[in-house]
Amino acid sequence: ITSVALTQHYLDRIDQYDGELNAYVTVTPELAMEMARQADQMIAEGKGGLLTGIPVAHKDIFCTLDVKTTCGSKMLDNFIAPYDAKVVEASRALGMPILGKTNMDEFAMGSSSESSYYGATKNPWDLKAVPGGSSGGSAAVIAAGLAPLATGSDTGGSIRQPASFCGITGIKPTYGAVSRYGMIAYASSFDQGGPMTRSAEESAWLLDVMAGFDERDSTSLEQPKQDYVSALSNDIKGLKVGVPAEYFEEGLDDGVATTVRAAIAELEKLGAEIVEVSLPNKDLAVPAYYVLAPAEASSNLSRFDGVRYGYRCENPTDLNDLYTRSRSEGFGAEVKRRIMVGAYALSAGYYDAYYLKAQKLRRMVRDDFVNAFEQCDVIVGPVAPTPAFNIGEKSDDPVSMYLADLYTIPVNLAGMPAMSVPAGFSNGRPVGLHLVGPYHSEAKLLNVAHQYQ
Ligand code: GLN
Repeated sequence: ITSVALTQHYLDRIDQYDGELNAYVTVTPELAMEMARQADQMIAEGKGGLLTGIPVAHKDIFCTLDVKTTCGSKMLDNFIAPYDAKVVEASRALGMPILGKTNMDEFAMGSSSESSYYGATKNPWDLKAVPGGSSGGSAAVIAAGLAPLATGSDTGGSIRQPASFCGITGIKPTYGAVSRYGMIAYASSFDQGGPMTRSAEESAWLLDVMAGFDERDSTSLEQPKQDYVSALSNDIKGLKVGVPAEYFEEGLDDGVATTVRAAIAELEKLGAEIVEVSLPNKDLAVPAYYVLAPAEASSNLSRFDGVRYGYRCENPTDLNDLYTRSRSEGFGAEVKRRIMVGAYALSAGYYDAYYLKAQKLRRMVRDDFVNAFEQCDVIVGPVAPTPAFNIGEKSDDPVSMYLADLYTIPVNLAGMPAMSVPAGFSNGRPVGLHLVGPYHSEAKLLNVAHQYQ
C-alpha cells in the first residue's frame, strides 16, 4: 500500500465520522496528501524509517508550522505557530503525513475533553460518554480508526485516562524523555508528551520517534536511547509485579476492579510474580497536584495577555482594559478557576501554607514509589476509578472531575513512566490496566504491555 492510499483512507474516514465525534479541531487534507506523496518518494528512494508514510494526528497542544494550534482555547483560535514542536518536527522529518490536530480540554485542564472551546468530543464506544481527557481527541481518533497513530500529553493523566476510556494504548514517558519544545505549557514540571495508539507495539514505534535529548528543552534528559522495539519480545517470567493494597479501596467501580484483577491473574499466568506493595501517601497526590499544577499554570498562562499573540479584545480603552478583557473573553471557566487558585497559592502570604506544603507532599508521594520499586519491577492497578462517564455528568462539579485522576496523578508528581493498556469492559465501556515503572523503564513497560496484549 502507498502512503497516498493509506492517508486517503484515513481522510475518508474522518470525512465520514468526525462530524459526529468532533475529535479533530483541524483536519489538514492537502498537507496530508502532499506529505504522503513525498513519503512515497522517500520510500522509493530507500530513505526514512519504519513509520515513513504512516499518517499521524497531533494533539492540538503541539505547535505546527503553518497549521493552526488552538490548545482547545478561544485564546488561540487564530494562532499559527512560526515553528514545529520537537515532536512534530521529528515526525515530519520522517515523512509521517499530518492528518490534523485533535481536540482537547482547554489548555489540557480537564479529564473529559468537555472544556474545549470547540465543543466536547464523543467516545466512539458510546456516543453518550466522554472520551476522557485532556487528550480525548487523540484517544477517540485511534479508537474510531480516524488515525493510526496520535500524540498526546499527560500532566496528571491526560494520556492514560483517555486511553483507558477509549480502549486504546498510551504511554506517559519519564519526565524529560520527550522534549517539551513547542508543546504549549500547562504545568511545566509535570507536562510530558507521549504516544497514543492501538497497541503497545505501535506505541513503541512512535515513542522511538518522539523521545530523545533536545537542547531546546532545559529539562530534556540526556539518556542513552532505549530500544523500545526489540525489548517488546522479551518474556516476562519472574517479573515482579507490585499490587498496592491502597488501589482497591472504596470508590473503585466493581467492573473496573474485576477487570484489573483478571489482568493481574493474566500476568501471573505469563510467569510474573505478584507482590503486595504499599503507597501509603497516594491520597495526598490529588490535593498536592491541585495546588502545584494551577500555580505553574497561573505563571505559564500569563503570556496570553492580548499583546503578543492570541485573542485580543475589541477597542481596548487602555492597557489594563486590554489585559483584563482579552483574558476574560479568551479563557474559559476552568482555565480561569485554575489561574485564580494558582495565583492565590503563590501569593506572598500563602506561599508557605500552600505551595511549599504541596512540594513536600510531592516528595512524599515520589518516595512511596521509590520504596515500592525496591520490591517490584512494575506496579499495576486501575487507571481510573470508573469507566467513561456520561457527557455532562461531572461538568459542573470540578472536584468530582479532579478525583477521576487519583491513580494517574501520583505518577506525574514522581515523574515516572506509566501506561494504560486495554484490559476489558465494565458496563460495555472500556477499562484500562495501569502499568507504572521506575525512571527510564519505558522499554520494560512496553514489553510487559505487549506480552499481556
Ligand atoms: N485532569 C488533570 C487536570 O485537569 C490532568 C490533565 C492533564 O494531564 N493534562 O489537570
